[in-house]
Amino acid sequence: MGNEPITFKIKTLTPLWTGGSDGKMDRIHETGIIGSIRWWYEVIARGLGYYVCDPTSDNRCKLSGKERDTAERISKLCPACYLFGTTGWKRMFNLPVTIDGKQPVRGNELFSQATTNSINKNWLSKVFEKNRDDMNYFGSLELRVLPRCDRNQIEKQLKAVLSIMSNFGSLGAKPQFGYGLFELSDDTEETKESLRIINRFLKENCFVKRSDDNKGFSLKNYWKIETEVGKSFPPANLKYLGSEVKNLYIPMSFDVRYMLRKEYLESSKSKKATAEIFGGTKGDKWASKVFVSSFYKEDQQNDKYKLRIWGFTERSVPEIVREAIERDYDTNNVGEISSFGKMLSEVTEIDSRL
Ligand SMILES: [Zn+2]
Repeated sequence: MGNEPITFKIKTLTPLWTGGSDGKMDRIHETGIIGSIRWWYEVIARGLGYYVCDPTSDNRCKLSGKERDTAERISKLCPACYLFGTTGWKRMFNLPVTIDGKQPVRGNELFSQATTNSINKNWLSKVFEKNRDDMNYFGSLELRVLPRCDRNQIEKQLKAVLSIMSNFGSLGAKPQFGYGLFELSDDTEETKESLRIINRFLKENCFVKRSDDNKGFSLKNYWKIETEVGKSFPPANLKYLGSEVKNLYIPMSFDVRYMLRKEYLESSKSKKATAEIFGGTKGDKWASKVFVSSFYKEDQQNDKYKLRIWGFTERSVPEIVREAIERDYDTNNVGEISSFGKMLSEVTEIDSRL
């Protein structure tokens, strides 16, 4: 036991962006990784009916330092602040080393970072030029976590949230641009069991309870579309990237997002509604409620790429997305739109009987 780190082995399916939101990504920044784990933990806790604060607001949980004991401290913290820290309370773990064990995955060169759409070229080429080294972060790596408190507790909570992220979201920053899809290489937890592990933890501890303002993202209105796309990608016009990359790149999430945004605008006939769903054009970190992965392969031997699109909206949005994806990306049949609704109520019901 002692200070042995808890290790999570990760295989990236699309490049991992862990740098700042602008600036060059010169190394793996743990803040981007921790930030995304916290964000998902908040989403899950809200989905299970628990209050979590907005850590960027003035209403976030804070400790004054005058609290008498741990019980009083915990009573002033929401579960996300308890695990991930806030003013006056340290994060329950450190993630000091993240790139040890980083290995490129052979045959993964053909990741998609380009666009066929002229409107995306200017800003995308800027992003791309600054981040040519992104490919170095495409492969496998280990997250090494040093717990500060109950090791078992931290391991269980992090494994549960990472298992959900690997199946339903992504890791690191800029998820809306297709970064950070990943697999957990060790045994992952089943989704329902992950929810139960988190639900029990939230139930057993007397964290602060407030009425929620319902502003935050919640698993309650989560949906996901995941599908294999046909081989026939539109030819990428890569002049803006220089000819040497000609055969290395295929169009990615930028174009899919652009198409979906247009599709939604035509259907809703409201620019305001469209901006609320797809975010501002400045690409604010979490502003979009719809996230589109880069094309990816779970197995490099496969011919075909897959695409994951997920969001936190009402049901009409994924219906529109599904139709557009089936039409434009040569999918056989996108199939069901997955969501958490039923599972969330099952989990909270089982555990309320215990
Ligand atoms: Zn909080």
